[in-house]
Amino acid sequence: HLFALMRDRMPANDRTFIETPAVGGGVSRTLTYGDALTLSSRMANLLVERGVQPGDRVAVQLEKSAEAIVLYLACVRAGAVYLPLNTAYTLAELDYFLGDAEPRVVVCSPGAKAELEPLARSKGVAAIETLGTDGTGSLMDGATACPSEFSDVERGPDDLAAILYTSGTTGRSKGAMLSHANLASNAVTLAEVWGFTAEDALLHALPIFHTHGLFVATNVTLMAGSSLIFVSRFDAGEMLRLMPRATVMMGVPTFYVRLLQHEGLTSAAVAHMRLFVSGSAPLLAETHDAWAERTGHRILERYGMTETNMNTSNPYDGDRIAGTVGQPLPGVTIRVTDPDSGEPLPDGEIGMIEVSGPNVFKGYWRMPEKTAAEFRGDGFFISGDLGKIDPRGYVHIVGRGKDLVITGGYNVYPKEVEVEIDALPGVIESAVIGVPHADFGEGVTALVVRQPNATIDEPAILKALDGRLAKYKQPKRVLFVEELPRNTMGKVQKNLLRDANKDLYARAKAG
Ligand code: ATP
Repeated sequence: HLFALMRDRMPANDRTFIETPAVGGGVSRTLTYGDALTLSSRMANLLVERGVQPGDRVAVQLEKSAEAIVLYLACVRAGAVYLPLNTAYTLAELDYFLGDAEPRVVVCSPGAKAELEPLARSKGVAAIETLGTDGTGSLMDGATACPSEFSDVERGPDDLAAILYTSGTTGRSKGAMLSHANLASNAVTLAEVWGFTAEDALLHALPIFHTHGLFVATNVTLMAGSSLIFVSRFDAGEMLRLMPRATVMMGVPTFYVRLLQHEGLTSAAVAHMRLFVSGSAPLLAETHDAWAERTGHRILERYGMTETNMNTSNPYDGDRIAGTVGQPLPGVTIRVTDPDSGEPLPDGEIGMIEVSGPNVFKGYWRMPEKTAAEFRGDGFFISGDLGKIDPRGYVHIVGRGKDLVITGGYNVYPKEVEVEIDALPGVIESAVIGVPHADFGEGVTALVVRQPNATIDEPAILKALDGRLAKYKQPKRVLFVEELPRNTMGKVQKNLLRDANKDLYARAKAG
């Protein structure tokens, strides 16, 4: 039982679990471990009162708050399946998620209830509760009236603790079923390998509906009895203001890029910090190096996904190698296979990354065929990411299988083109995609963000790449954009770029 492990490791009741610093003159709030224990008992009692049975889903669409994390604990304790939903989802999108997950209870923010209620009722939801960012709402009122003791509902290691829908970067979101053992094993491992103790304070500016901000950050904290400093939304100045009270930051690459643009980032500003972790999207080696130079810290990059929690990490003690995601975590096995035949490839060759270990999920909710198609017979999960393992056992991610460009029968890994373009003077970053092309099947196409006032143009980029990349890898066209579209987790949304440019070569032919 996930919560039994957490409870065993909880520090004294009066230790801070989550601190929510005041923004703009408001009042700071502190939730202690004792508060979290009592409040999660009350909430678990309320869920049972609302008819929640073991295995029932509790869907939660909430802005970030300490109480929302307590609700997650309450669900786990009540044997329910916690189902967080992105706060950006519209009613039309929620129609799919509620229909697919069929939750027993829905918890939303007070302002969303009126609109959500008819939809939820139409999907058979038994109760709708509200919870605001200030910790008030019907859920809190109901919980306050419930007993402060709760005897945790028994669950086995393979029973579900949560369903997390994938971000949908590469298609329709799928509900990844995560068991108690999946979450517990990963949390225990990460707390250990990253050296978490009760003295740590984790600066947290991530959303709490995604695996990174929810499981990696809060589960690790709970396993070590550390504390969280909750920032509702990333702001470089605010992060720098809080760093003297924190010891660890977990972020997406965009956080690091923005902090580097802030003049307040100095080695003195991060003097109290012991660890900076990056994940959810590739961290450019350039960002890693710039960070090391400015702060004296080497960012620890790790790799994971909704379906598998965390797979790899650069070492806490040892070489953190820029541009790699480190080595498999203890208990996790990574292999690289030929994407077509599924045969294992020798180290150093690029292929499909496959993962096995206690961290790997139980399958996609109500999608047995999709699940079967993504697991090998021996239990390895086919991640969809392409990469290789170097001689030191470090994993390199070169991109997602779906982003591979196949041009004239040749495979082009977008990253090998992107790194060449990114290294050119005047270029901030680039994204390489495949666009339908009558002659080549797909044409390699580069979208480039230039530095302000940079004059580098399409012919100059093409000329620079000639000689550095084989002819078939060179872009057919280079287009300039103001910025690359990214989702909340900092991932470049290549599907949007492909859609926006799908007629590029058709037009060229016609014209
Ligand atoms: P969907 O599966 O619906 O497309 P998604 O995969 O974007 O959604 P997540 O599970 O949040 O949703 O993302 C996991 C993916 O993020 C990984 O498969 C990998 O492509 C990418 N990723 C995570 N960490 C790193 C990293 N350190 N470097 C490169 N890529 C990373």
